[in-house]
Amino acid sequence: TAVTGLETMHTKTTCPYCGVGCGVVVTTERRQHNGRDVIELIGVKGDPDHPANFGKLCSKGSKLAETAQANVYGQVRASQPLMRTDRAQTVSPGTWNDALDHVVDKYAELITQHGPDSVAFYISGQLLTEDYYAFNKLAKALIGTNNVDTNSRLCMSSAVSGYKRTLGADAPPCSYDDVALADCVFIAGSNTAYAHPILFRRLEAARAQNPNHRLIVVDPRTTDTAQMADLHLKIQPGTDVMLFNAMLNILMQQGWLDMATINLHTEGFDEYARGVAEYSPALAARVCGVKEADILQAATWFAKSPKTLSLYCQGLNQATTGTDKNTALIALHLATGQIGRAGAGPFSLTGQPNAMGGREVGGLSTLLPAHRELSNPVHIQEMEAFWGVKKLSSAPGATAVELFDRLEKGDIKAVWVACTNPAHSLPNSQKVARALQKAELVVVQDAYLTPATVEYADVVLPATTWGEKEGTVTNSERRISRVRSALPPHGEARHDWAIVVDFARRLEKALASRGVPSSSIEPGKTLFPWNTPEDIFLEHRETTRGRDLDITGLGYDILEHLGPQQWPMPEGASQGTARLYEDLNFPTASGKARFVFAPYEPVAEDTDARFPWKLNTGRLRDQWHGASRTGTLPEFFSHEAEPVLALNSADYQRLGLNEHSWVRVKSRRATVTLRVKPDDSVAPNQAALPMHWGPEFFGGKGGVAGVNALTTEAFDPYSKQPELKHSAVHIARAQLP
Ligand code: SF4
Repeated sequence: TAVTGLETMHTKTTCPYCGVGCGVVVTTERRQHNGRDVIELIGVKGDPDHPANFGKLCSKGSKLAETAQANVYGQVRASQPLMRTDRAQTVSPGTWNDALDHVVDKYAELITQHGPDSVAFYISGQLLTEDYYAFNKLAKALIGTNNVDTNSRLCMSSAVSGYKRTLGADAPPCSYDDVALADCVFIAGSNTAYAHPILFRRLEAARAQNPNHRLIVVDPRTTDTAQMADLHLKIQPGTDVMLFNAMLNILMQQGWLDMATINLHTEGFDEYARGVAEYSPALAARVCGVKEADILQAATWFAKSPKTLSLYCQGLNQATTGTDKNTALIALHLATGQIGRAGAGPFSLTGQPNAMGGREVGGLSTLLPAHRELSNPVHIQEMEAFWGVKKLSSAPGATAVELFDRLEKGDIKAVWVACTNPAHSLPNSQKVARALQKAELVVVQDAYLTPATVEYADVVLPATTWGEKEGTVTNSERRISRVRSALPPHGEARHDWAIVVDFARRLEKALASRGVPSSSIEPGKTLFPWNTPEDIFLEHRETTRGRDLDITGLGYDILEHLGPQQWPMPEGASQGTARLYEDLNFPTASGKARFVFAPYEPVAEDTDARFPWKLNTGRLRDQWHGASRTGTLPEFFSHEAEPVLALNSADYQRLGLNEHSWVRVKSRRATVTLRVKPDDSVAPNQAALPMHWGPEFFGGKGGVAGVNALTTEAFDPYSKQPELKHSAVHIARAQLP
């Protein structure tokens, strides 16, 4: 029997889904149940005070209470450690002590015998900044490997390398408020309506207020976002650089350049101009498959509008030319002076809730904390001194695709997967499954028993999740928000950072006892002295002192009083920074932004006679990634109930398909059989599939082909982000499986 209403509590926290980073208020009640105090989740509402959403929530955010309850009471939550010491067995319940000691023994053995780079960590943009910092320090400072990468590599790394190449730092310069201030919004490779719904609503509101507003959308599909556009450039997949170069060519021909900005605040323009001179609108129209007049119109609105803002996401980033696409788009802003002003600038949208926080703490295999570079000896020395370790490795670690490649080859022998489902979400996912199968040790630390990846786990460490965790996240506009716990941990689950600390302290002792020259400091001391996430935040904060993302003026107490703040916010600042580069002084050696010309290169895997279709993968409005959370709520399937291949109606008819038809989609890596529908949002000879369904939907676990078994792992040479947005496939009618 439950006694209701002993106490009602309201907790402000942050939505765990997309990079908009909306604030939410969680209402809980303390009740008595069979003589015990229990906390029950009553509901979740938008936080009217949060500057990302002002109280609004999208379909996913507004159902957070329902998904949390479905997850807690359903079968998908990991509630106790699971382990096996023999691969022939299945995992069975164990204690935290046994599970951690088992992993410590194996990690210490591998590090001793094969060196630090024989182990790896694959973490997630779902983790909080404090979790990320702890994992990063464990790998780089204690173990001495840079083999720590993240699923954010699949999300934002091309935006990072694009910003660094042109503006000198990984820092999105704009704010969400700029969406309302812009006269022209140029959206490229983003279905904002589905992937960043609340920001899209702000755009809709801005357009309703401004009769002269222009919206240009560049996308191979007529998405819901494209349907609202004044001009939709429905380009062939992967031809963005061709389009952007041709637009700049038009600006040069028309004399629409901002020569004052170019001359005073940039470098490299002359060479860039020589490069884009080859890109005539006629050539671009032919290659991109759009009208020349539309390219001219886009260039006109981009340059002539008083304030032009670009929004871009995976369509630019998830490509073998992702860095070049970002560079070419930013060049349009530099050439027209559409930067450094309210309502103007290039603004990458972060896919995951904390992909930005992970970058801040250097939680990738190529970075060190506070935007320091592994390739910079001064940065390495700074972090050696800060962490008090003798030597940090300067060898770049394995990035996401490389990591599982090296795991399959046996160079990496143990992998620790935290808060992500790589056997579902990485490209060529069956290869990832084979790598996990081959590993000597697979640790999965997660709140959910993700079917595709957990199948290969030797140890499952149950973690807390949204509603239970404390820490911070950073959204697309550099805004740091608090994540607060409203509910107790589920079962025996522990916080991600706390699992790392417990493991790290045990590993310090194990390495010392084996005589490994561990990076760790004097005997009896630890690199991991933290007792709370706030302790970690304070250490992270100190790494940013004097850096571009300086947050030495920020703390949990200030976030409590002032609310979420945008970095930088150095010591003494009374609030965060809404916009960067307003003085057009850029964080490069010369203080000038850079034009870096990149010629157009086609997609990695072009079509041919055997694989004549262009497959695009993407997201649905009501699902989130591998659907660990959203897949537990039946109503989320009312939008799209299953993965259905979308084909242009002309192709649909040509193949003789009807509503009872199934098709077999075959790439160079795998084959899946699924339903098909006519959908003229997709261009002829192209196909589109949502990525939310993994191998379990197709009748098995990790080894079976899910949607990402089809996609190519070819990646951008700079950002190492794979080309999830384009694979060549063959499509044929199939018998009902
Ligand atoms: Fe959550 Fe993103 Fe929806 Fe906001 S827009 S409620 S952050 S999923």
